[in-house]
Amino acid sequence: MSAPKPRRPVPRMATEPSAPAAEAVGATVPYLLDFLPREGEAETRLSRFYTRLREGRLSTTRCRKDGTTTWPPRTVCPACHTAELDWIDLPETGHLYAFSAVLGGAPLGMEAEVPFAVGLVDLDGAPLRLFGRIVGRPWAELSVGDRVAVETYPVAGDRYFYRFRAGPAGPHDR
Ligand SMILES: [Zn+2]
Repeated sequence: MSAPKPRRPVPRMATEPSAPAAEAVGATVPYLLDFLPREGEAETRLSRFYTRLREGRLSTTRCRKDGTTTWPPRTVCPACHTAELDWIDLPETGHLYAFSAVLGGAPLGMEAEVPFAVGLVDLDGAPLRLFGRIVGRPWAELSVGDRVAVETYPVAGDRYFYRFRAGPAGPHDR
């Protein structure tokens, strides 16, 4: 019998949060359940997206050569493959194209937030449909077509993310 092969070290998982993130979500939450992307320059070439979120700006990339605007932001234009992209701010308002509610089976660590709404938002004046959390009103009081506004907010690990806030219920502006 041959000797067992030495075990290779297990590579660090890309989704493993840094120590501050793990502390922020609590030691009992498995590190694989960190749904939020790493934001630093050393971790993503899209770090400017997150820098701008900290400034309260939701943004994406637009190709300098052919004007292709993508969501989510890219490092290379999918149409012409250039890396010459500009960062542009997205409109701060839009309307609900569709939505749903999470009533049970929430991801670990989000149980206390149930029920909550998620939806697809068409931004004003931009050919982009974004997915995100919908806040500001109970999900049962939301309607397709409701006006929403983009907002940024701090999340675990000193990071920022975006979501959409519905205003008070009223006549829809579709
Ligand atoms: Zn292009």
